[in-house]
Amino acid sequence: MSILSWIEDQRKLKLLNAPKYTHPDTEGGQGLWTRCDHCGVILYIKHLKENQRVCFGCGYHLQMNSHERLEHLLDTGTWRPLDETVSPCDPLQFKDQKAYTERLKDAQERTGLQDAVQTGTGLLDGIPVAVGVMDFNFMGGSMGSVVGEKITRLIEYATHEGLSLILVCASGGARMQEGILSLMQMAKISAALHVHQNLAKLLYIAILTSPTTGGVTASFAMLGDLIIAEPKALIGFAGRRVIEQTLQEQLPDDFQTSEYLCHHGLLDLIIPRSFLKQALSEILTVYRDAPLRTPGELPYGERGPMTKVLEEHWRRLAESKSGEISRKLTETTNKNHWLSAKLNETQNTDQLQIGDLPDVISGACIPTHHTMWFIDANGQVMVQQETFTRETIEWPETEKSS
Ligand SMILES: [Zn+2]
Ligand SMILES: [Zn+2]
Repeated sequence: MSILSWIEDQRKLKLLNAPKYTHPDTEGGQGLWTRCDHCGVILYIKHLKENQRVCFGCGYHLQMNSHERLEHLLDTGTWRPLDETVSPCDPLQFKDQKAYTERLKDAQERTGLQDAVQTGTGLLDGIPVAVGVMDFNFMGGSMGSVVGEKITRLIEYATHEGLSLILVCASGGARMQEGILSLMQMAKISAALHVHQNLAKLLYIAILTSPTTGGVTASFAMLGDLIIAEPKALIGFAGRRVIEQTLQEQLPDDFQTSEYLCHHGLLDLIIPRSFLKQALSEILTVYRDAPLRTPGELPYGERGPMTKVLEEHWRRLAESKSGEISRKLTETTNKNHWLSAKLNETQNTDQLQIGDLPDVISGACIPTHHTMWFIDANGQVMVQQETFTRETIEWPETEKSS
């Protein structure tokens, strides 16, 4: 055996015995190492993840996917996703180098998401919140009709349930493959936020991460009651080059960074990732305990539209709980007296009088917007709004997410 063949044998043996390479979860085969986008330091992904994807060399906040974000933001095991199955379609049959449907399929397989946002509810240090997290890995976090619809539904859910809303933005803007249908999402989301913030008087916190640009910046990202950004995040509407060409002038180096925007009054706070959860928890606690909050008032059409599905949902819920609720109703000695007293308090002649309610067998109340459902003996559902206060009847302990 020559020395060369011995070396070759050794090499093959070494390869055979080498530990099998395993892809880290959710990384989709991007290897064990990565490079900081800012300072170029080589980073071990496992350690980077443990450090919430903040560079050890320069403290730069690297992009984080939506799963990791939720994991760091919410209490373990409390995430309840909403509208997970809402999926995009291709109304324009858009095609550039690749068909839009192909791009969607690739992104869906790579990220395990249907579109570029995850919405749902969860607990943040024990405080219930509605959370939406955009995922930049899904076609640059672009906002198409699904992203718009899911965020709108989340906002409406938060409004009806009286939850504080947190949206984590990471987006390249509106999704060009869906054309005007993407652009109209800006107005749709803003309208839903108007009801949430200005009418229901509920809290909305926007968290801007790198990058937040285009239509997202131009709509919900900049509408937060509090706008929080991560350090050195790229936040803007149009790209730097476009602005330079249009204005024909040199822009400062830190243009469109969160520090620059904060200095010019477009942001409220810059919070490093490691403090974000604690900061949010403190903000929510202060908000929850604020003594002089104005109670919100939802306009009529905004109060939980009674669709057939929803009606059935409440009916079944009330039926399954009817024993408990009837007991609560009878505990007030005489339910008819008690109900009519409550109804008279409102002094609204348009509302149902107790005589109109035949044989109420059970009812349920949504604590946040004073809506009461009565079920009569025939299983008919009646809706009574603005009559009962939070203390009157507690909503039974059940799974609320639909
Ligand atoms: Zn770095
Ligand atoms: Zn109420």
